[in-house]
Amino acid sequence: MSENQSLFGPREARFLVEEQCACWELAHNNIEALDKIQTRELSVGKETVRLQYNPARILSSTARIDESSLQARPCFLCASNRPPQQMSEPFDEDYEILVNPYPILPYHLTIPTRAHTPQRIARRMGSLFQLCHQLKDFVVFYNGPRCGASAPDHAHFQAGATGVLPMENEPEFTKKASFSAPVCSYQSAALRAYPFCSRPFFEIRSTDEIASTYLFSLVLQVLQQNAPTPEEKEEEPMMNLLAWNVKGESILRIFPRQRHRPACYYAQDAGSILLSPGALDMGGLVAVPRKSDFENITGSDLETIFSEVCIRPEQLEELARQLQS
Ligand SMILES: [Zn+2]
Repeated sequence: MSENQSLFGPREARFLVEEQCACWELAHNNIEALDKIQTRELSVGKETVRLQYNPARILSSTARIDESSLQARPCFLCASNRPPQQMSEPFDEDYEILVNPYPILPYHLTIPTRAHTPQRIARRMGSLFQLCHQLKDFVVFYNGPRCGASAPDHAHFQAGATGVLPMENEPEFTKKASFSAPVCSYQSAALRAYPFCSRPFFEIRSTDEIASTYLFSLVLQVLQQNAPTPEEKEEEPMMNLLAWNVKGESILRIFPRQRHRPACYYAQDAGSILLSPGALDMGGLVAVPRKSDFENITGSDLETIFSEVCIRPEQLEELARQLQS
């Protein structure tokens, strides 16, 4: 992109949200509701999780993503199916920036590709880091096709304001690296493993996005080699990604997953909890659409849910060993 071309940044993002609020009732109502949304904090081990009661998320939490359901519905990320009030701004040549009318974060954006093409992360990391670079004070995130994305048939990122995800500021996490030295490094980028928390993850930190992208490709390769099912080998390993900037350094957290939804999601009885975790849940912000879930979920419920959908600490350690060799 040429130097004099103006980039879509935080100011433009906030302006786009304000414009949408002025002309789109659905977005206006849900964004206004977010200002006074009910939250409560829970402890999961020594970690903090913020629970958010967000009834507008019911559609997304219960989205059917099997092949025939996807084919039977008009894709809501394709330009031809969007509501006439929904505006868009270009990003790169391949993407558009939209306001998410069902926000979890302030200034919640959805950034789909122009083309209707499956949700895959390989070859899209450059775009993720570019978004992160342009949208300072925003967290950019990615939900794998069976890890929280409600449109797994249409590639997209999401972004929203920083300062809301508990994990951004949780010192407990930074103490939990499994090795004092990075698992591996490339130029200025370092990869570390954090197995000893409720959502085991890898972290890549760097001031150089190309170096970070290279380390991510190594993680992707190892996850692919260890993928337990043919679908994952063929599509992509299950994962959520969160990325943001701190003082010019990009932080990318990779949460390998083993299940799409926890057992309680499918339970019919009193044990039912309507929760389909994605990247924001991994970051410690858990949005539930049902009031009874908001009132009744305990830290121990969340610990069970995370242990079912995330990989186990020893699996992350094994992956780290493979990355070291
Ligand atoms: Zn589409």
